Amino acid sequence: MTKDQYVKKSLAMLKEVFGYNQFRNQQGEIITSICQAKDTFVLMPTGGGKSLCYQIPAMIKDGTGVVVSPLISLMKDQVDALKGCGVNAAFYNSSLKAGESRKVLHALDTGKLDLLYIAPERLLSEEFMTRLKKIKIVLFAIDEAHCVSQWGHDFRPEYVRLGDLRKNFPKTPMVALTATADTHTREDIIECLGLHNAKRYISSFDRPNIRYLVAPKRQPMKQIVEFIRDWKDSSGIIYCLSRKRVEEVTVNLQRHHIKAAAYHAGLPAKQREKVQDDFLRDRIRVIVATVAFGMGVDKPNVRFVIHHDIPKSIESYYQETGRAGRDSFESEVLLLYGAGDTNLVRKLIENVDSLDQRRIEVHKLNSMIGFAEALTCRRRVLLSYFGERLEHDCGNCDICLDPPETFDATKYAQQGLRAVKTAGEKFGMGYIVDVLRGADTARIRTNEHERLKIYGVGKHLGLDEWTSILRQLVHHGNLIQDVSQHGALKLTPRGQRLLKGGVKVTFAKYKPGVRHGIKKPSRKRNDDVFALLNAIRYQLADELDISPHTIFSDVALGEMSLLRPTTEEGFLTINGVGQHKLKTYGPAFLHVLREHVKKFPEIVQEKVKKVIKLVPKGPAPTAAQQHTWNLYKKGASIEDLTAQGLSEKSLMQHFIALVRAGNEINVKEIVGKETFNHIMAALADADPCASLSEVKKDLEIDVSNEVFRLVLAWNEGAEEV
Ligand code: ADP
Ligand code: ZN
Repeated sequence: MTKDQYVKKSLAMLKEVFGYNQFRNQQGEIITSICQAKDTFVLMPTGGGKSLCYQIPAMIKDGTGVVVSPLISLMKDQVDALKGCGVNAAFYNSSLKAGESRKVLHALDTGKLDLLYIAPERLLSEEFMTRLKKIKIVLFAIDEAHCVSQWGHDFRPEYVRLGDLRKNFPKTPMVALTATADTHTREDIIECLGLHNAKRYISSFDRPNIRYLVAPKRQPMKQIVEFIRDWKDSSGIIYCLSRKRVEEVTVNLQRHHIKAAAYHAGLPAKQREKVQDDFLRDRIRVIVATVAFGMGVDKPNVRFVIHHDIPKSIESYYQETGRAGRDSFESEVLLLYGAGDTNLVRKLIENVDSLDQRRIEVHKLNSMIGFAEALTCRRRVLLSYFGERLEHDCGNCDICLDPPETFDATKYAQQGLRAVKTAGEKFGMGYIVDVLRGADTARIRTNEHERLKIYGVGKHLGLDEWTSILRQLVHHGNLIQDVSQHGALKLTPRGQRLLKGGVKVTFAKYKPGVRHGIKKPSRKRNDDVFALLNAIRYQLADELDISPHTIFSDVALGEMSLLRPTTEEGFLTINGVGQHKLKTYGPAFLHVLREHVKKFPEIVQEKVKKVIKLVPKGPAPTAAQQHTWNLYKKGASIEDLTAQGLSEKSLMQHFIALVRAGNEINVKEIVGKETFNHIMAALADADPCASLSEVKKDLEIDVSNEVFRLVLAWNEGAEEV
């Protein structure tokens, strides 16, 4: 087949079998590369959609695709999900009974399997190798490929021998996939596995569906319970630093009637297994765990992750928060930050034996504190830590949703950069701040840095202010902080340019104390319908003895709850509904949806699928506006709301602010469909240079200023997803 034919065929399969309309990230290219029998390396963040990259080629091509995965607990789920889509898949591991094993092997021998999931030690047994040589193998997919590298953070000895695969199957294409690998580990993986001229596909580390929130830790238990209440019917993880804390938090949640369970290394293996299984099956909603608890929590529909205590590094934070939203549906992560907590982590670091290691850990912790105290878009901070630069602020973190005051920091930024440069790019943040502030320290005297021209030019700014400026220089990619060299600051090419002059920078103003954490749910789902669908999903899963999310993902349920399709045709437009799922699960879900629509026909049903998300463009709503929102959300009409004593004009102003803050207000319904369409058409037709008042003047209908501004605000924030 030619490349184009592969593309066409894989797109058809994506739609028919998996029920998706387009490829995500580089899925399309990766699939073609594998179909053309090239060795391939894939780095994609969790939830990016790695599985389809090897599943589709294995299905397109004649023969069986063998998937190596270290996570036995996940194999069944993945296979259940594939079977749910009508794919011939099986897993072969120690959890199978003798009879089941025999069945799987028979299916494999007779070429009936498109995909076989297997653990490395089983695969590499001589007997199994001989078996595989007798049948046609399309590809080997090595999932969690970082496990082969001793450089990686999760080295597994049984993965090392996977290099033998290449010797036994020199011609079969191999694809290695991972979500975590720095450049060093990457090349190590490719070498260990013996990939030939591997095509490398590297995606951004960004997880756009995760909303990052940091809040000052005041009354953590209360904060946690309130946060969880907002995520009705959803699963989440809470990380704590100590076992004792885990137990306390669990008991507390249970007292609030939240189905929670503890998980830490001190519990018997049996119990841990049960907790994990209950979590996967949605029998418990929240897992409270220590960080010792690792990969086992891979559940795709984890909607929130809370850090009760500060993690010890940005790497851990990224990995732990990354367990939210694997299914790419909206998720929230919350870090409760109490400056005092860092002492606890420092104590843990003191137990590390090697001095060098201890130093590295201290720098890592400092970067984490930098994140927690950042005044810059959190996503920017995270990604810059991994060497990526965001073009725009993300609009989906606490800083973006409620930005701090800013000022023209060009002069200070240049002073900071000059200090780093003239001191020789060998010193950490604290030292540079000392130089800038003209501190009289032994270290500065030894280095004779009091002779530098820059010494003391920043006397009038405080220690915290300078630290904040230097941190922002790091977050904006003007400086890098070299962890391997005790956090030494160095200029990047971007920093060099800024130092030369001609560029302006705007930074956030430093304010003492931790910022107020805020949070505004703008969920793409109708909670009432979601709950109904969730219940039927749970019931079906229980009957079939599979995990609920293998029936439909939260994304699919979310779309169903919004669009409320009542026909098979409409049901098929939902992301994640393919032909097979329509047949097996369609009737049950359509029944629920039809009943609901019968009961509540007044909610306008969208026929054409066009999901619009409102992106926040303005400040958080005031208390009064929030009150309006709460009532509106519960279904209050315009009349109900004005009856509360608000004039129609003020009500409209509330709506405008709410829309600007990203709250899902049905503007079309409020202003009337015709008016809405008219204004939208006028906006689309307007001369790009025309001012808004000109556009309004040219409208052929008479609308109030507020109505016009409301549609405008909606138009500005609306983003099709
Ligand atoms: P990863 O293995 O990279 O963590 P998965 O392969 O589990 O990610 O995919 C994450 C989620 O995204 C799954 O629910 C999957 O069905 C969904 N998904 C993958 N590709 C697409 C796509 N092209 N369109 C819509 N959803 C997709
Ligand atoms: Zn942001």
